[in-house]
Amino acid sequence: MRVKAVKLPALLVVALATKACAFVLWLAGAKPALAAACFIAPDPFLLWGLFVPSAQGLVRVFTHFATNRREVWLTIDDGPDPEDTPRILDLLDRHGARATFFVIGERAARHPELIREIVRRGHEVAHHTHTHPHATFWCAGPARLAAELDRALAALGEAGVKPRWFRPPVGIKHLLLGRALAQRDLRCVGWTVRSGDSRAGSAAAVVRQVAPRLRSGAIVLLHEGPRLTASVRVQGIALVLEMCAQRGFACVIPRADQLR
Ligand SMILES: [Zn+2]
Repeated sequence: MRVKAVKLPALLVVALATKACAFVLWLAGAKPALAAACFIAPDPFLLWGLFVPSAQGLVRVFTHFATNRREVWLTIDDGPDPEDTPRILDLLDRHGARATFFVIGERAARHPELIREIVRRGHEVAHHTHTHPHATFWCAGPARLAAELDRALAALGEAGVKPRWFRPPVGIKHLLLGRALAQRDLRCVGWTVRSGDSRAGSAAAVVRQVAPRLRSGAIVLLHEGPRLTASVRVQGIALVLEMCAQRGFACVIPRADQLR
């Protein structure tokens, strides 16, 4: 297998170089406070790159798409789910809407028929790690990072899908994510509008969160599955689809060259 040469992000290279300089300063007898300040100076930038979902420092993250039409991209994370996904597909059909499902690999492995059904109904399947390790993805070792990406790719491949897009759990990245994605022909997609559905107490609250932020070219982050409150599951997406229809927004899957 030919391994692509992919550069490390400039932010990471500069941060490591600055830390190395700090160490050399310390060895050379510089004031310890100066060496320590130099050592920790890159950390705020690294933390920003890792933990701010829209930050571009470590990996290019697409946060909207270019369009002069009244259209948005609905992205539905954390499935597939045997209860929710079929109902969401019916809702999308009813509205003539298309969406991208960012699925978890181990769930896809349990329900390959749902992955195939998503595609058969005209929607897209994307990559959302294999086990959704939202608390530990950022600090995973290189082998764990590779396993999260490759095991989900294998599960989706079993269902006949080769995803183009990746979204890290809760938007938190990894120092080596840019390189790991490039090696697998994946690109990182964030969002414009976070619906807050995973914490909302009602479907109406989801619409209240999305409505004022919706604009042409927006990527809307939605969820499915048992982590949502019972009254929000599927119903939040139903109300968002109704709101989009009322305001004349088509729900589309943008082309790759539209992403920004
Ligand atoms: Zn997720």
